[in-house]
Amino acid sequence: MIAMYQLMDGKLVSQSVKDRIRDEVAVYREQGKEITLAVIIVGDDPASRVYVNNKKKACEYVGFRSLEYALPESTTQEELIALIHELNGREDVNGILCQLPVPKHIDDKAVIAAIDVKKDVDAFSEINVGKIMIGDYDFLPCTPAGVMEMLKYYQISVEGKNCVVIGRSNIVGKPMAMLLLHENGTVVMTHSRTQKLAELTKNADILVAAVGKAKFVTAGMVKDGAVVIDVGMNRDENGKLCGDVDFNSVAEKCSYITPVPGGVGPMTIAMLMQNTLKAYEIQNGGTAE
Ligand code: NAP
Repeated sequence: MIAMYQLMDGKLVSQSVKDRIRDEVAVYREQGKEITLAVIIVGDDPASRVYVNNKKKACEYVGFRSLEYALPESTTQEELIALIHELNGREDVNGILCQLPVPKHIDDKAVIAAIDVKKDVDAFSEINVGKIMIGDYDFLPCTPAGVMEMLKYYQISVEGKNCVVIGRSNIVGKPMAMLLLHENGTVVMTHSRTQKLAELTKNADILVAAVGKAKFVTAGMVKDGAVVIDVGMNRDENGKLCGDVDFNSVAEKCSYITPVPGGVGPMTIAMLMQNTLKAYEIQNGGTAE
């Protein structure tokens, strides 16, 4: 059978976002202005290390300066928060992010709360989360914003569509549902206690999976012609990176689908770059033009 679906290429779309940012950053750099993202990593979780390296690479590409603070696992909450306060006070630091998860002895809520709202480029702070809810925001939550950017790129309208989000985490599921709602989608949020999940997902014109379970979404859960966005990043039984969607069986039912890897992942980082540029502009009262 000839595949009828179109792959949504996160590498391609994220490249176009990063190129746009790079052009804008070049204007600032010509004026001798520098934009800086500080990235904190505590401990040596290998997945976190990969994410941090990718973020640093993206900074290099768009022309930001990146500062890495790699702290040992034994770092105390007080030490970490003291570093964040120091970075909050530095005029030459525009964005701050602390790679999650932090070690168990550190309260991630306290860490997020310590970051200056104007430098909170992950948009995890209570104020920025509240702004997302209202729909009047400076910083977009990176992963859901990356999904919206892909939908826009492929000219997929959300208005009036049935959108089902699987997963309700604070960093993906909830803000994802909000962004779809702001674009006038009819949104259903689902989670581990949802009854008859497949009946709901089979009704979705746009289905977003953010579950964290390999190949969780199977063909029987998907409507013909649906747009399927796979946020998941899991390892399959062979240790290979895979999403929440069983791509091989689901793809042929879709009009559009994102691959893993090469789908939502690269978009998340591109949106982080966008937020960092925004942070600089908020702190410096304007744009390059
Ligand atoms: P999370 O905090 O673990 O949340 C998972 C959500 O899935 C929870 O809301 C949970 O429901 C729900 N869920 C679990 N089992 C379910 C079931 N059987 N039926 C329906 N819902 C179920 O995960 P997360 O941080 O949102 O991340 C989700 C996935 O996205 C992970 O694979 C993660 O690695 C990936 N991710 C990717 C990116 C990227 O850039 N591509 C960024 C962030 C995360 P309850 O609330 O009821 O427990």
